[in-house]
Amino acid sequence: MKLEKSIELYTKGKKHLVGAVNSPVRAFKSVGGVPIFIDAAKGSKIIDVDGNEYVDMVLSYGPMILGHRNSVVEKTIKKYLKKGYTFGASTKGEIILAELVCDAFPGMDKVRFVNSGTEAVLSAIRLARAYTGKNKIIKFSGCYHGHSDALLVAAGSGLATLSLPGSAGVPDEAVKNTLIAEYNNIDSVERHLAKHNDIAAVIIEPIAGNMGVVLPTKEFIEELRDLTKASGVLLIMDEVMTGFRSKFGGAQELLGIKADITCLGKVIGGGFPVGAYGARNEIMQMVAPLGPMYQAGTLSGNPIAMACGIATLKELKKQDPYKDFEKTAAFLERAMLSAAKENGIDLQVNRFGSMINPFFTKTKVVDFKTAQTSDTKKFKTFFWKMMENGVFLPPSQFEAWFLATAMSKRDIYKVRSAINIAMKAVADK
Ligand code: PMP
Repeated sequence: MKLEKSIELYTKGKKHLVGAVNSPVRAFKSVGGVPIFIDAAKGSKIIDVDGNEYVDMVLSYGPMILGHRNSVVEKTIKKYLKKGYTFGASTKGEIILAELVCDAFPGMDKVRFVNSGTEAVLSAIRLARAYTGKNKIIKFSGCYHGHSDALLVAAGSGLATLSLPGSAGVPDEAVKNTLIAEYNNIDSVERHLAKHNDIAAVIIEPIAGNMGVVLPTKEFIEELRDLTKASGVLLIMDEVMTGFRSKFGGAQELLGIKADITCLGKVIGGGFPVGAYGARNEIMQMVAPLGPMYQAGTLSGNPIAMACGIATLKELKKQDPYKDFEKTAAFLERAMLSAAKENGIDLQVNRFGSMINPFFTKTKVVDFKTAQTSDTKKFKTFFWKMMENGVFLPPSQFEAWFLATAMSKRDIYKVRSAINIAMKAVADK
């Protein structure tokens, strides 16, 4: 595989950029080798600076659900670029996107736009504390909610990839109010609720994607909703990854559950930096300028980002790809399981809708502990063979692969061929 130009940029980039990247998940650290540098992308394909073309299953870690440079979206962005880039005053686009978002999530009467998922979640936690007057929060190990201090404990995504229990530089005081529970284990939540009377909220990825894909059981998620309600504790659903991806109305539509506070990001910006948090009126009433909880942003509700988000959501609604995603993911699951069987490899495949990934383990993956039973050396071999055969995957066992509407049958067959070769390589290693 030719990677000379990526190697050259990596070498050069290390001088002024930490590890030559601006987000550690891009560093290819757990799979070894050099991170690829991207030149351009169109539709389902992404091309690196050496001219290698891949079917893109990273999709910028989720936002590019329509694929890259969708023509309707691109036309809209171009139109809005002519009007100016940022004003420090409100625009119509913010109202339109808010309407689209609140219509899709019935638990949200009002929404506040921010610039990232991290910001959405840290604001949601502040809001939960402001509303309840309580301080503690419960999070689940293996879930990732961005890089704010209070949430960098037992986190998934890049921390799982790098086997970090938390982050240096986070003071003990910042995490002393963060309690950890186990995914799919309601007893671990109940124990905290029984012991502490100052819990403001439980935060969860309703379909987890940051320890690889892990689904909640129906009983677990329903009991979590009932239990939080009965205890006067807010349920925050972090749908930064699943919002508009699992279903148009996110995991909440799918599971038939309403969160008290919802966090969004990724797809709602269509590739531009947008995050959001929202809730029913009574809770959002706390946020400045209506209430005493302060949260602000120079570029929040940026007009180009809003235009891109609106065009993306409208196009997504029109295309309604959710049944097709399910079928494609089922096809890929079968392809992986049969290739694994043929090669005598223990494999679990977890998926929902347009999120899927394999774990190289005999153990059913239901939480962070079982996800960590995956043989990451096998993943590494698998990953590079997939790359060599034209499929760009997240360079970590603990990240979801994504589908986009721009993927054709041909793309998916290409992924299947790569899977067959890669599983054989894992067996031969
Ligand atoms: N929450 C979840 C569920 C996420 O998946 C992510 C990012 N992967 C975040 C929050 C943080 O979002 P951002 O990277 O935009 O800050």
